[in-house]
Amino acid sequence: MSEFEQKVLKLLEEINGKLDSLLKGGPVTSSPSPASSASTPAATMDSEISRPKPSELVEKQKEEERMQEKPPIEGRRVCPECGGTSFATHEDRSQVLHQMGGVKIYAKKYVCKSCGYEY
Ligand SMILES: [Zn+2]
Repeated sequence: MSEFEQKVLKLLEEINGKLDSLLKGGPVTSSPSPASSASTPAATMDSEISRPKPSELVEKQKEEERMQEKPPIEGRRVCPECGGTSFATHEDRSQVLHQMGGVKIYAKKYVCKSCGYEY
């Protein structure tokens, strides 16, 4: 085996080792990893994005507040007492919401199945 062939073999072994560590996700000390420099392009990208006007920001904040004030969608109700999400619904016959043509619509009562909290 010539000296050149031995050198090539040694290089191939080194490359193999590096590939192994790359595949394992281990640290590669010899070459800079692309992940470490990822924050730099992101920072430059940020300055390129046109900043919204202050008034638009306020509008957006108001919108977000409105979203939070909205009651949770049916079935996604969360118990204020224990944070449970399963409820039984009952008609609260002491509370008539609506009456039309003899048909009464009663208020609904939600009872937390975990702690029994009613509302
Ligand atoms: Zn509860």
